[in-house]
Amino acid sequence: MGDDVTGPDFVRSFQIEGMNVRGRIVHLTDLADRVLAAHAYPEAVSRVVGEALALTALLGASLKFDGVLTLQTRGDGPLRMVVADYSSPGTLRACATFDRDAVMALGPLPAFSDLVGKGSLAITIDPGGDMERYQGIVPLDAEGLGDAATAYFEQSEQIPTRIRLSVATLISRGDPSPHWRAGGMVIQNLAALGGHNAPKPGHDVDEDWNRASVLFSTIEPHELVDPQVEAERLLFRLYHEDGVRVFETEDLNFGCRCSAERVSAVLSQYPESEVRELAGEDGLVRATCEFCSTVYSFQPDELLKTQTAT
Ligand SMILES: [Zn+2]
Repeated sequence: MGDDVTGPDFVRSFQIEGMNVRGRIVHLTDLADRVLAAHAYPEAVSRVVGEALALTALLGASLKFDGVLTLQTRGDGPLRMVVADYSSPGTLRACATFDRDAVMALGPLPAFSDLVGKGSLAITIDPGGDMERYQGIVPLDAEGLGDAATAYFEQSEQIPTRIRLSVATLISRGDPSPHWRAGGMVIQNLAALGGHNAPKPGHDVDEDWNRASVLFSTIEPHELVDPQVEAERLLFRLYHEDGVRVFETEDLNFGCRCSAERVSAVLSQYPESEVRELAGEDGLVRATCEFCSTVYSFQPDELLKTQTAT
């Protein structure tokens, strides 16, 4: 890898010509670095959070309306929970809850199943306003988040799907701290749904999907995170024989939706004795946002006043 440590964050959609196989590719450079460096989690946790960011961007970019897509793992392993969400247009954030000693005890490169244990992956779509939330849940008994999400699409949505995610650290000359990168790609066989999605005459749906999948399986992990491998070049390498049509590109940014109002609303639900107990030596109650590390502080009386007001 070269010395280029800054780069764009984007998700781009494409279609393989004639097949009605659609996909998206995501590259996270500055965004992955910002989120993962700020959290300073153990490396094994950072890798899963990086995958969650890339996967959330791939899924969130498919929303046809303004809303929030949340991906959440819950497991009985040392990595108890990972949450990543995408709010349109193009805003990502992520955090993790884990037992540090138990994670470190697993060594430098633990298997995904040892980290998360037994649990579930939930994908929630909140369109906002009065519209109803939608949630799908699949078991987490997979090799990684990509596999779990693939199972979600194949079982819940009946759409043949392939997903690859990759996370890496990049060392640049003269800079001792590693830079995080995350990337991923998804393809889905919409032709299998039939109807207006059916492919052009002369195309065999199964044969097309088989070829698209075999080519997809040749993706090397580094191709999804190396700044020298451009998205267009990777798509061309894979699908130049059939042709690839590239659609819109969405820029991605880190962003958090936390606010003093939201934090105070949560804290003011605690009983009075607990609120008083939370106060530090200076008498203030402090809460830190798990996503962006912003620290909010309140006078206990302030929190208890809203309590009696409601
Ligand atoms: Zn925040």
